[in-house]
Amino acid sequence: MSSTAPKKREEDKSLDLALRPNVFSEYIGQETIKNNLKILIEAAKRRKEPVEHVLFYGPAGLGKTTLAHLIAKEINTQIRVTSGPAIEKVGDLASILTNLSPGDILFIDEAHRLNKLIEEILYPAMENRSLDIIIGKGPSARAIQLELPPFSIIAATTRIALLSSPLRSRFSGGTFRLDFYKKEDIEKIISRSAKILGVLIEKDAVPLIAERSRFTPRTANRFLKRARDYAEVHGKGIITKDLAQKALELMEIDDKGLDSLDRKVLDTVINKFNGGPVGLTTIAASVREEEDTIEEISEPYLMQLGFLERTPRGRCATARAYEHLGVKPPKTEQQKLI
Ligand code: ADP
Repeated sequence: MSSTAPKKREEDKSLDLALRPNVFSEYIGQETIKNNLKILIEAAKRRKEPVEHVLFYGPAGLGKTTLAHLIAKEINTQIRVTSGPAIEKVGDLASILTNLSPGDILFIDEAHRLNKLIEEILYPAMENRSLDIIIGKGPSARAIQLELPPFSIIAATTRIALLSSPLRSRFSGGTFRLDFYKKEDIEKIISRSAKILGVLIEKDAVPLIAERSRFTPRTANRFLKRARDYAEVHGKGIITKDLAQKALELMEIDDKGLDSLDRKVLDTVINKFNGGPVGLTTIAASVREEEDTIEEISEPYLMQLGFLERTPRGRCATARAYEHLGVKPPKTEQQKLI
């Protein structure tokens, strides 16, 4: 299934890198977070200490990794990048931590996928820079304690609820939730990206791409790139509104920015399960997609649009969702439309 969702794919990596803001002033939106981070950075600089540990959470593609890199640039320090699933064994973490230089930032993406054993090693490392590990097995096993250089951990997750509370409480610098962007901010991001990529885009094509970009910078950048390709093949290389529209149609993006997976999810809830409530596992089986993809990618956007509600008994489609799919809502939902 071709999803246009903002989850990072191979083709995104180089695009992400090329378009990643290099200074805070280029990072559009998320003002409250930026203001908090600036204070955190300034305080650390004055105390001549590493920044405190920070946790970012929110849907994929909203700029968590970018913020981690910006913090590193701002304090002029190295950033080492890893991810929850990459740290499989205690030894992996020990080797990463002992190789840090004083002041380094360790960025852990997908922190919710750290295993519990690793988390337990991380607590003392974050709290008092001590690495407690056991070497060897059986009667000859020895516990050793190593002192680590001063360092900061910046972690990112799309699933904060899966992080254990002891781990969450170790982020002394703060836990920041990234929200979906405003349409105007996405427009600014598209214009900035077009300049960097050297793409010519007509003014009225920008809002069209923006309103279908799931309020997400990564998706906006991807659509811009696809629209450029389309304009090169079918036009004169300039993205007009018409060409942008056709490029989006080719990707099966509708006027609300839903892709085929989003629509399948809604269709399942509405047409197969009478609007819900229906459980995530059932939806996933029905649309033949992984639960994680639905929970991390489709649902946040469908909920942001007010198309889907999460209730204790399962997911329910709202009157707006019925309207969007052109299906007559049941009476109770119809009343909500008035
Ligand atoms: P996440 O880590 O949350 O998945 P990233 O930080 O990798 O997201 O962001 C994806 C891409 O979106 C970045 O490479 C960057 O080009 C763009 N981006 C994200 N946030 C912003 C922003 N606030 N301003 C401009 N571009 C952004």
